[in-house]
Amino acid sequence: MTLYLKNPTFIDWKSFEIIKKDIKVTEGYNGAIQFIEKAPEQNKLAPEDKIIDCAGKIVTKSFGCGHHHIYSTLARGMGAPKKIPANFKEILKYIWWHLDKCLNLEMIEASALACAIFCAKNGVTFVIDHHASPFAVKDSLFTIADAFDKVGVSSLLCYELSDRDGEKSKQQGLEEHQNYLNSGKQGHIGLHASFTIGDTLLKQAILLAEKFNTGIHIHVAEDKADQEDCLKDYGIRVVERLYNFGALNLPKTILSHCIHLNQNEKKLIKDSGVWVAENIESNQNNNVGLADYSAVTNNVMLGTDGMHSDMLRSAKAAFFAGQSIENVGMDTIYARFRNIHHYIEKSGFKGDGENNLLILDYNSPTEVTADNFLGHFIFGIDSSHIQSVIANGKLIIENKQTILVNEDDILIYARQMGLKLWDKMK
Ligand SMILES: [Zn+2]
Repeated sequence: MTLYLKNPTFIDWKSFEIIKKDIKVTEGYNGAIQFIEKAPEQNKLAPEDKIIDCAGKIVTKSFGCGHHHIYSTLARGMGAPKKIPANFKEILKYIWWHLDKCLNLEMIEASALACAIFCAKNGVTFVIDHHASPFAVKDSLFTIADAFDKVGVSSLLCYELSDRDGEKSKQQGLEEHQNYLNSGKQGHIGLHASFTIGDTLLKQAILLAEKFNTGIHIHVAEDKADQEDCLKDYGIRVVERLYNFGALNLPKTILSHCIHLNQNEKKLIKDSGVWVAENIESNQNNNVGLADYSAVTNNVMLGTDGMHSDMLRSAKAAFFAGQSIENVGMDTIYARFRNIHHYIEKSGFKGDGENNLLILDYNSPTEVTADNFLGHFIFGIDSSHIQSVIANGKLIIENKQTILVNEDDILIYARQMGLKLWDKMK
């Protein structure tokens, strides 16, 4: 199938060069786009091909999310926990570790389908997820991948290994990674955070990552407690511990948050070239502190930490909060927003080729040029302007409607599963 975008204003995501030529988009993983003088006439099209009129519309590369949690999708609007958390560890204990223990595969499927739709409608065509469901581990990653495939969004998954839920759950987590990666799917080896991972599990996870030529994906120093526990239990800091075990030798490794680091840890991260995921709204919500990432590394990408699936919102939040912490520029935030594409390309993952595009209905009161695009990115363009989305050359959102799945049916299913989950959590 070939898509033709007629009369678009194309903005190159790297250079901001504006190109006003028709575009031929070929379907397939890591596919390309081609600028052509003129799209064919409707009556000359092959039956499976399609022309989209983009007159007055902006076309640019779609987005990616560097750290998501689909498992939190059904948390929206749920009742208060039995104890109001007083700190970060209690937020985990009374909210997230209570919720994830109650998830079954149906709830995971509903969460992933709904989450994938939210991603797609927000122009996010590639999601890096970190999943936890300690009593429904087996097949959880396959369930999530299938749901994302149904909606048309590419994924890079892992299971959140931890010693917090006992031996059986841990073994199942290790097996799920092996089964998933042995099947040819792409993923990381997921770990919750240093403070819930013993040395044996950490070693096992790194060996698995090496075996499958991938990286680990772990929460790092999200709260001071992670560092305090590491110093107490091992006499070293979190990043030093990961370094000692070889996690920083894996270039595909993603360290999420990285808020409470000392100079040595920052240097270890910078020198290693591993990646950091910034999730500023989640950090504000959990009141764990905020980081000056410019002092850590340039390999920073943005995530949502499961708060939502709107990466434009994440970018704006990172820019505004970043003013007081690191005096961050629009160019730096845009680079972080787009770094996920470099990460995916360098890591050799599939699903983020140039044939991942979105069409913006952005009727600006001022001219959009290569020189001022960043101003429009921060102060103008938001997800309400996203009209259509193309993933791997396939149209997945057209005029704000899902193409491959029925959104209404899925949200009905999600609400049913949400009620079941909340009931179980009582
Ligand atoms: Zn997270």
